[in-house]
Amino acid sequence: MTENLYSLLLPSDPQDDARAALRTETDAVWSYGDLRRTAGRIARLLHETGVIRGDRVAVQVEKSPEALCLYLAVLQLGAVYLPLNTAYTLTELRYFLGDAEPAVFVGPPHSAGEVEALDPSVARKVLTLAPDGGGSLMEACRDLAPWDAVADVTADEVAAILYTSGTTGRPKGAMITHGNLGYTARTLTRLWGVTESDVLLHGLPIFHAHGLFIAINTMLLGRASILFLAKFNADRVVALLPRATLFMGVPTLYTRLLADPHLTPALCRAMRLFTCGSAPLSAETFARFEERTGHRILERYGMTETAIITTNPLEGERVPGTVGYPLPGLEIRVADEAGRAVAPGEVGGLELRGPNVFKGYWRMPEKTAAEFRPDGFFITGDLVSLAPDGRVSIVSRAKDLIISGGYNVYPREVESVLGRIAGVRDAAVIGVPHPDFGEGVMAVVERQPECGALDGAEIVAQAARELAGYKLPKIVVIQDSLPRNAMGKVQKNELRERHKDAFK
Ligand code: ATP
Ligand code: MG
Repeated sequence: MTENLYSLLLPSDPQDDARAALRTETDAVWSYGDLRRTAGRIARLLHETGVIRGDRVAVQVEKSPEALCLYLAVLQLGAVYLPLNTAYTLTELRYFLGDAEPAVFVGPPHSAGEVEALDPSVARKVLTLAPDGGGSLMEACRDLAPWDAVADVTADEVAAILYTSGTTGRPKGAMITHGNLGYTARTLTRLWGVTESDVLLHGLPIFHAHGLFIAINTMLLGRASILFLAKFNADRVVALLPRATLFMGVPTLYTRLLADPHLTPALCRAMRLFTCGSAPLSAETFARFEERTGHRILERYGMTETAIITTNPLEGERVPGTVGYPLPGLEIRVADEAGRAVAPGEVGGLELRGPNVFKGYWRMPEKTAAEFRPDGFFITGDLVSLAPDGRVSIVSRAKDLIISGGYNVYPREVESVLGRIAGVRDAAVIGVPHPDFGEGVMAVVERQPECGALDGAEIVAQAARELAGYKLPKIVVIQDSLPRNAMGKVQKNELRERHKDAFK
């Protein structure tokens, strides 16, 4: 039997054909049969365009049901789906397309001409797809008969190339296989108890592993249905929550929901699970959300290269500040820089091996070699500690760790203290070059707009009640907002660059 993920997500089963898969904000319903037929038409078009197994199909479009069908069509053909962040500019796009050399590029109608003008070699064919389904892609396949063959791929063949968020450097293209994605979808459906009666309120982008591989794949495999929001919007989420049983978010989405006065336990009556990942969820947001809704957010941890790695339990204690247990079937170790296991309970780098681990970085053999140990363990770049019962807590990214005057400062610890100070909405703690200490601790604080002026010295004085002197920021910069990416992740690289001369 084929290991094609498509066969797992959309098996041809007449019983499923009429079942609702997606419901849009305008109440248009897409059944599982509709997804299969539209994906089939797109697959035929791509096939006629010359797309063959292994070819990349690069896509930079807004979220829509048709965009989802395009993803499924690419899987069906055994080609490689390569979604790109919609925020990338034309200059950035040039880099990604040059790197990926796709057979086809699908972009928004307004940029097709610009993309074609970039360089004829960026893609053999350029098609367009608008948020409402308009554009040359759907026009060209409207009257085609759905392609119904599914490419017979092995578990080890690449299904998608996803670029990492670029938080620590230039985004890397992670090659993710059909086997990786099948394992993730099967495991999460089981661990999170997804059934046909579930309704996921989906407000994440679908060019990222969280919104696509964790949210969409898991729901399709579970034959659940999805309330498909074109974009996250707190008002829309609040309006639709009574119709949903599941919500998957990133920390900033939860902070934005908390700012909405309509969020109440009554609103969440039908809900059974809120999950959070992609960036650290503060214990404070966790507590405030429980107060407001009665729900304890299930935090989980993953990365583009591995999809999900750990999750808090569905049944059992969800501990704030921890990301839960490794998924079954994964081997993990907490190691020093040489890959030797550290003593139990000590902080070290998380390394793992298992069916979710990607195949390597696209066209970056040296980078791939550097991130894997000889025994096949992947080095995540995250520093963690392991509780005796196997629970994982993320302490910092290895690249964010600050060494000041010989002492290790974990930014997250300082950030959580700063985050509890009145008037502070969020804080990013970074290390920048310092003439005496090697690195100096510095905080960039996001102020709460409704609070008045904040005073840096006062913030440090308050933090000093809880933190040793060497952990205290020597400089505090107060801003209205922190630089964040599409997933709400603070761009610390940008902050380090901007403030690199702060102690000079
Ligand atoms: P790049 O690899 O390009 O620098 P990135 O690592 O931010 O960017 P992603 O793959 O989107 O790109 O993010 C994975 C990282 O996000 C993890 O390595 C981890 O540092 C962080 N992360 C994900 N989930 C959590 C979580 N629940 N708590 C803390 N950190 C998390
Ligand atoms: Mg990363």
